[in-house]
Amino acid sequence: MGAYGELLGYARELDEKDPLAGYRGLFVGADDPLVPAYLDGNSLGRPLKASVERVRELMVRGWGGRLIRGWDEGWLQLPERLGDELGRAALGAGAGQCIVADSTTVLLYKLARAALGARPGRRRVVVDRDNFPTGRYVLEGIAAECGLELDWLEVPYDGGADPARVRAVAGPQTALVVLSHVAYRSGHLADMQAITRVVHDAGALVLWDLCHSVGAVPVELDAWGVDFAVGCSYKYLNGGPGAPAWAYVRREPQHLRQPIQGWMGSLDPFGMPQGYQPAQGIRRFASGTPPIIGMAAMQDMVALIGEAGIGAIREKSVALTGYALEAVVVLLAGTGAAVASPRGAGRRGSHVTIDHPRSRTVTARLWEQGVIPDYRNPGGIRLGLSPLSTSFEEVCRGVGAIAAELGDAAGS
Ligand SMILES: *Cc1c(COP(=O)(O)O)cnc(C)c1O
Repeated sequence: MGAYGELLGYARELDEKDPLAGYRGLFVGADDPLVPAYLDGNSLGRPLKASVERVRELMVRGWGGRLIRGWDEGWLQLPERLGDELGRAALGAGAGQCIVADSTTVLLYKLARAALGARPGRRRVVVDRDNFPTGRYVLEGIAAECGLELDWLEVPYDGGADPARVRAVAGPQTALVVLSHVAYRSGHLADMQAITRVVHDAGALVLWDLCHSVGAVPVELDAWGVDFAVGCSYKYLNGGPGAPAWAYVRREPQHLRQPIQGWMGSLDPFGMPQGYQPAQGIRRFASGTPPIIGMAAMQDMVALIGEAGIGAIREKSVALTGYALEAVVVLLAGTGAAVASPRGAGRRGSHVTIDHPRSRTVTARLWEQGVIPDYRNPGGIRLGLSPLSTSFEEVCRGVGAIAAELGDAAGS
């Protein structure tokens, strides 16, 4: 038996022993022979079969049957109700601190602006150089708008933000530090608890972007003293393309003002008074009418995360990325591919990145075969492993296909 056969046998063994293996069948297309390996659940999670039914029900009975009455029968409260459920299942957040709304980009803007209002005398914001582009761009815009300076946190290519680096840049003029929990390219998992403490020691506030960790990596936002967090719901929350994002605002700073003063964040939306007055609590971070259809699918995934347990999900995630790294070492040896992600399980999110000069063309050829990782500049193939819908065998097939594309005999 060749190296590939051995790895495949090992993958099947791991799948057999996997206590979460049964969840995979709940997802649409999990056994589609035309997609032998879906390794991009970190970018767009698969739909749940239950969500197909839920969206249908919502359209036929909810929207079609209840019509405008639907708003009074639960839709208006859905952003906070779903926020509370997400907080409980995945964020370590007590009720009344999470809301589903807008997109991550818009929420980053709203929360960053609100946070700056808490530190009016301070003129600097720390952001990491390798943060997802939208976070960097939003902060560049805010800096220009408010006359602030950005301090760029330089991070290693295969790593991310760590407490020592943050301590070195956050100072007495720092109002806010904005960081990704899991780095979108390298998959580096930041020590949120320690970094939050460092930021607070500098007298600043912290805003965490959890897009690449929510639903895959457990966090304790309340216990760790996090001020603000945002995340999207179409990655590991399987909410569907363009599903709305969520925001966490710790209870203490909820009195702050956010800049997009819409009626849905006002004290009395249906009183329609003159003059904006902000709602009390997390609701004031909403702006416009909630996207009800967009919130449908993620409800099933949030419930499933609660059922499976975020701790068990993390265990599987660590096992999947660990297996992927082993497969890369065995199957891609001699191909010129290099791992560009942290090796230690404690510092890995749920994806691993492999660098190779031909990554872009290789990814395009893999997509034609239904082997679907993604490509990220400059030269990375990302393997995103969504714990409830990805099998070890799938990872094996995926890395095997990459090996075959890179022309290594071990991959055949
Ligand atoms: C995916 C992602 C986003 C996406 O923001 P949108 O407003 O939903 O487009 C933002 N930040 C990070 C870290 C991401 O990974």
